[in-house]
Amino acid sequence: MLLYHAIGTPLAAAPYSLTVSVKQFEEQMRWLRDQPDIEGVSLEAGVQLLSANPSRRLVAVTFDDGYLDNLTVAAPLLSKLGLPCTVFVTASYLTRQPSSRPLFLSIDDLRVLSEIAGVSIGAHGYSHRPLTRLSQFELNTELGEAKALLEGVIRRRVATLSYPHGAVNAQVIEAAKACGYDYGATSFIGLNRRGRSPWLLSRTEITGKDNLEDFCRKVRGDYDWYGLKQRLYWPIPQG
Ligand SMILES: [Zn+2]
Repeated sequence: MLLYHAIGTPLAAAPYSLTVSVKQFEEQMRWLRDQPDIEGVSLEAGVQLLSANPSRRLVAVTFDDGYLDNLTVAAPLLSKLGLPCTVFVTASYLTRQPSSRPLFLSIDDLRVLSEIAGVSIGAHGYSHRPLTRLSQFELNTELGEAKALLEGVIRRRVATLSYPHGAVNAQVIEAAKACGYDYGATSFIGLNRRGRSPWLLSRTEITGKDNLEDFCRKVRGDYDWYGLKQRLYWPIPQG
């Protein structure tokens, strides 16, 4: 599973290259589409197909935070190429941004995005706080309000969650289950193999520093060693 943030929008405050240029993104997605042995799937379909037939090579494209360019740039291109995607939206960003220079999707934008063929909407928390640092009450509110707000806008069930800052533990997973989510996406790099918990799905982040060769290597799993290192430094419960 691939993790993107902004496509083409420069982010002044970003600590590292969160923005992938439009040219890079288009090149990467065309490469994906052209691989005869790789199938672009939605996150949900990917998890189901993986358990049915682990030898298939599946790639799911995801975006975190809910940048406006996911609607204006990424989704139209992916739709044209026949590649599904999931956009994980931080619910409070839908209304809390300067109208003069909107960086994130508005409520109307989200509705339009959700109607594009192949696009699924997931939650990325309500306020983007790390879920592992919240009290039980705050955790339930954060996850429940995000789900309710997004479902109210798109009028469909929101079953997927990506953990803000990649912060997850057993308590977060239990709260997500109780709030009615079915899948949780982490920020741990790596391919997902059969048997991976649907609550600890790995995602390999693509940044603006990746050229096409880096991208191909990431898709093939050449960076999976880094995910093992991440898990060592941030042990999480398996299962
Ligand atoms: Zn985020």
